[in-house]
Amino acid sequence: MVKYFICLLALITPLAAYPDTAAVFADAYPDTILAASNEMVVWRDKTVMLITKNSPTLADQLKDKYRKGEFFTPPNTDPGRQRYQPFFLKMYGNTQWQVEKYLTTIYWMPKVFGNAFPLRVTTINGVDKKLQCVSDELENLPDFYYPYLSNPSTFTWRNIANSDHISTHSFGIAIDINTDYSHYWQWDLMHEEKPVTESTPLTYQNEIPWEIVAIFEKYGFIWGGKWQHYDTMHFEYRPELLQ
Ligand SMILES: [Zn+2]
Repeated sequence: MVKYFICLLALITPLAAYPDTAAVFADAYPDTILAASNEMVVWRDKTVMLITKNSPTLADQLKDKYRKGEFFTPPNTDPGRQRYQPFFLKMYGNTQWQVEKYLTTIYWMPKVFGNAFPLRVTTINGVDKKLQCVSDELENLPDFYYPYLSNPSTFTWRNIANSDHISTHSFGIAIDINTDYSHYWQWDLMHEEKPVTESTPLTYQNEIPWEIVAIFEKYGFIWGGKWQHYDTMHFEYRPELLQ
């Protein structure tokens, strides 16, 4: 009952209409952000972060619109894939040690998998509780869906493949589900012996069922399968994109 109430609360976190780009962030991250304008974000510890200082900016993070729910043509943008790195370092920790201070362990779909999959997730912004809610709902899906959800992974301090940007897995806000059913644009290009560059044309591929995506989106996690540069195993907590 208590668990159900927490999941319900997670759903009614206010995400109304936003006139200003930056106000989106204040509303999406009420635990960590005090206020925002189009020029700056004021954090609850009173740090002020200018928005258009570096590139990609915080505004760039919202430029490609992330659309909830099913789509029928392959995506031609990468909503959420552009990240203003200082924002995430400030939010979740500048170093592996700082991030780890805020991690906790949740058990992934224990009614289905028992204690086979302990996952380390950040407690900042209640991400651990929201991922627990995702896990609770996924357990209620029919058996057909379970193979896609087996063998997940969350926290590892690392860079994005072939990039000098830190992966969101480093912040304890991302989860990869079973790689056996997943497609990643870089793997597919390598398999086809094509150059692994952002500009190489891609043929979109996905096997992950929509019902799984919908449950993650409900709790503030975007899906890498909605990127032109697809990563269909990948979900990350980005409530600013899910209004
Ligand atoms: Zn991932």
